[in-house]
Amino acid sequence: MIDLCIIGAGPAGLMAAIHAARNHAQATILEANPTAGRKLLITGGGRCNFTHAGSPDQIARAFEGPPAAKGAVRQERFLRHCLHEFSPDDAREFFRSRGLPETVEPDGCVFPAGNQAAEVRDVLVAEAVRLGAHIQYQAKAIDVAATEGGFAIQTQSRRIAASRLILATGGLSYPQTGSTGDGYRFAQQLGHAVIPPKAALVPLVVQEAWVRDLAGVALADVKIRTALDKRAVVVSGNMLFTQRGIGGPAAQDLSRYLTDALFETRRSIPIEIDVLAGLDELQADRHLQNQFQTQAKKTVSNVLSEFLPRQLALTLCLLAGCGRQTQAGQLPGEQRRQLVRTIKRLPLTVTGVESIAKATVTRGGVSLAQIDPRTMESKVRPGLFFAGEVIDLDGPCGGYNLQMCWSTGALAGRSAARPRTDGDAHV
Ligand SMILES: Cc1cc2nc3c(=O)[nH]c(=O)nc-3n(C[C@H](O)[C@H](O)[C@H](O)COP(=O)(O)OP(=O)(O)OC[C@H]3O[C@@H](n4cnc5c(N)ncnc54)[C@H](O)[C@@H]3O)c2cc1C
Repeated sequence: MIDLCIIGAGPAGLMAAIHAARNHAQATILEANPTAGRKLLITGGGRCNFTHAGSPDQIARAFEGPPAAKGAVRQERFLRHCLHEFSPDDAREFFRSRGLPETVEPDGCVFPAGNQAAEVRDVLVAEAVRLGAHIQYQAKAIDVAATEGGFAIQTQSRRIAASRLILATGGLSYPQTGSTGDGYRFAQQLGHAVIPPKAALVPLVVQEAWVRDLAGVALADVKIRTALDKRAVVVSGNMLFTQRGIGGPAAQDLSRYLTDALFETRRSIPIEIDVLAGLDELQADRHLQNQFQTQAKKTVSNVLSEFLPRQLALTLCLLAGCGRQTQAGQLPGEQRRQLVRTIKRLPLTVTGVESIAKATVTRGGVSLAQIDPRTMESKVRPGLFFAGEVIDLDGPCGGYNLQMCWSTGALAGRSAARPRTDGDAHV
């Protein structure tokens, strides 16, 4: 019987193996792919936004999403302890001290200075192996069962007995990277409830056909507003029009709030985009008035395209009822105010989200109610631990999700190296 088996050599599984080894437990990691961290390699567009600068409490607060169901454990509360145990500063120090300098962008996103996700992956693998972890590649776990002394894990070619087990199999997004949802099935087989997995941090699909003409048009620093159960939700950041709706960080962050409501009620949700979020409505109106007076002979849409993408400027004019050829100096005041309202509150109707295969993360997963947040150990099956995206945790864009993997992975690894609470003392 081995001490510890970890299923999944992604960020959470590798960090768990490192922390288990530091606490004198050698892990065997089963990885279905021929290499580790396939998803990690595509993070941050290949640059890997590996954490977000901030205190543990700030990071935890970012996980506060839509209101949780009555009695449900809140993500923010669940994460607080593990983020204090292995904080963003600890993650940065971990990589820095292993020869990986960092760049911190003005918005707090932290990347390796060389902008290579592969370097992050290589540091993790090298450290895990150096400390004695044994990674078995092309070893897909196909079944898991509880036994008297621990767990039996069946791969395609062998059966492994382990006194402890960490499930770090990831979620369901980008399944071609290896995260195909096996961990949910294993967790259920071992007595755990799984919250239905849904796409999060994913582009939104909208009803309005005109967005198609704007596909590829990017906007910086917008605000997107909606209301859910009479509660205002506002997200901000960059966005992009797509063939079927909107994407980019702001739209993806909003998807965390909308995905449950869309899944449960199947109703469409109205949203408003503030295209000029830097100015309030009055300031925007004064700005347009000045511009239209000084450039009276130009068309309205040409004036707008001096500070907005040309195609969007034209669309906004048409939506606000200004003709294509209307000259700026001839636009009546009421129509200008209507144009300002359209710019500040561009209405769209969200009817769905793109498929989970295109999502950055999975919302849902192993229920927080049955995991001890002080150890990451199962409350129903001693010796079983969870780390990373397989857990019902999903944060916004900006390095939060990988930080969650480092923190839950470190705590799970450390806890799994301790004697079992039910008296077992193998490790
Ligand atoms: C395009 C994209 C960009 C992203 N960018 C960022 C970013 O910049 N910053 C950020 O914080 N987050 C980002 N994320 C999210 C982040 O990548 C994930 O949250 C993170 O990879 C989850 O880590 P994990 O270890 O829990 O799971 P995974 O990374 O999914 O790893 C799970 C591993 O388990 C293996 N596995 C699964 N089932 C089995 C089985 N049955 N047997 C053996 N092995 C198995 C898989 O092959 C895989 O290697 C991005 C995600 C995507 C898709």
